[in-house]
Amino acid sequence: SIPLTFFAGIGGASHAGVLVKGSNYLDLLSRAKYVVMDKTGTLTEGVFQVTKIVTSDISEAELLEKTAMAEVFSNHPISKSLKEAYGKPIDSSKVVDVQEVAGAGIKANVDGLEVAAGNEKLMSSLGLSINSVNEPGTVIHVAIAGQYKGYILISDKLKSTSKEAIQALKKAGVKKTVMLTGDSKQVADIVAADLGLDQVYSELLPADKVTKVEELLELKQSKEQLIFVGDGINDAPVLSRADIGVAMGALGSDAAIEAADIVLMDDDPKKIAKAIGIARKCMRIVY
Ligand code: ADP
Ligand code: MG
Repeated sequence: SIPLTFFAGIGGASHAGVLVKGSNYLDLLSRAKYVVMDKTGTLTEGVFQVTKIVTSDISEAELLEKTAMAEVFSNHPISKSLKEAYGKPIDSSKVVDVQEVAGAGIKANVDGLEVAAGNEKLMSSLGLSINSVNEPGTVIHVAIAGQYKGYILISDKLKSTSKEAIQALKKAGVKKTVMLTGDSKQVADIVAADLGLDQVYSELLPADKVTKVEELLELKQSKEQLIFVGDGINDAPVLSRADIGVAMGALGSDAAIEAADIVLMDDDPKKIAKAIGIARKCMRIVY
C-alpha cells in the first residue's frame, strides 16, 4: 500500500505552488540530475523591447505596422512585444491565412500582402538569403510580398532570480544545467555565460529540442532523472519526452500544462530547486 505521507507530500508541494500530477513524479524529481531549460519565458522575462528598426524601401513605422498586424493572432512573447511596440489597435479582419511556424516565426496575408516575420530559418524557407545581423538581441527579419524589407531588433532581460536559480540547482547536486533555445547563438551564448549554465544549444526547432533531450537521456545513468522546464509555448513535445516535464507559470499554454508532469504556479526559476528539495524531503519521509 502507498504510505499516507506520499499524499501529504503532494499536498505540501501544492502549498508551495508545485502541482504534481502523480506521486511517482515526486520520487523521480527527488533524483533529478539533469535540468534542461527553455530560455524565453523560463530564464528570461519573455518581455521584449524594440531597440532598433532597420529597413530598406519602406518606412520604419510601416515595417512595424505590417509586422504587428501579421502577429495579431499569436500569443508568442515576441508577438506580444511587437504589438505592444506598435501600440495601436489592429483591425484583425485585414489579416488572413495566418501560419505560425514554431521556432521560426509567422506568415500572414496582411491587407492583401504576404508578410513574413521571424528568424533566418524562416527567411531561407522563403528562398530569401540575408546577411547575418551582428547586433546584441533577437533579430526579427521581415519580408513583404517576397521581398526582404529589413529587421526589428528586440531584446529580452534575464529574470532577476535566474542566476541564483542555477546556483541553487548546483547546490542541490544537479550534475548538468542545460539551456535549449530557438533563439540565435549570439543571444543564447550571452545568457548561458551570464547564468553559468553548463551547456547551451541554440537555433533549435521544437523537434530539435526533443532530439537534444534524447541525446542527454542517453548520457545519464538509469537512476538519474532528467527534467525539462519550459514556459509552454511550443514546448509540449519536449515536456513529454523528458523523464519529468515541468511547465512553469500559471499562464503557460493549455497544451503545456496538459503535457507536463509538474506545474510550477509562478514564474520564478528558483522554484525548480525548491521543488527538488520538497521532493527529497517527502521521499525521506516515505522511506
Ligand atoms: P525559445 O526556444 O527561446 O522559447 P521559440 O522556439 O519560441 O524560442 O522561437 C525561436 C525563434 O523563432 C525566436 O527567437 C524568433 O526568432 C522566432 N519566432 C518564433 N515565434 C515567432 C513569432 N510569433 N514572430 C516572430 N518570430 C518568431
Ligand atoms: Mg519558448
